[in-house]
Amino acid sequence: MTDDDPAITRVPDFDCPRCGYTCTAVGTTDGTAGAPTPGNVCGCMACGFPMMFDIDPLTGLLRLRTMTPADVDTLSEDQMRELTRVQHFAQTWTPMQRNRN
Ligand SMILES: [Zn+2]
Repeated sequence: MTDDDPAITRVPDFDCPRCGYTCTAVGTTDGTAGAPTPGNVCGCMACGFPMMFDIDPLTGLLRLRTMTPADVDTLSEDQMRELTRVQHFAQTWTPMQRNRN
């Protein structure tokens, strides 16, 4: 996995509050090119903990943050489906796949 992979977007390090896994980059779940935008859903690569992208008010950069119950209330059906898919994926990833980023 290299930095040129169009399906991978670098984000500031984010430690999963559930399992402690440090997420440094994210990819779209279907491997297609495209950067996440604020409001997109994401899951911890190790445990599937629900997270969301937003813009850090201090740096103006895209970052990950924990999904709040209020966020969950506003999710569309598509986002819910996406999140379910990420959580399913996370449990099938091998340690090697998790470490490649
Ligand atoms: Zn986790």
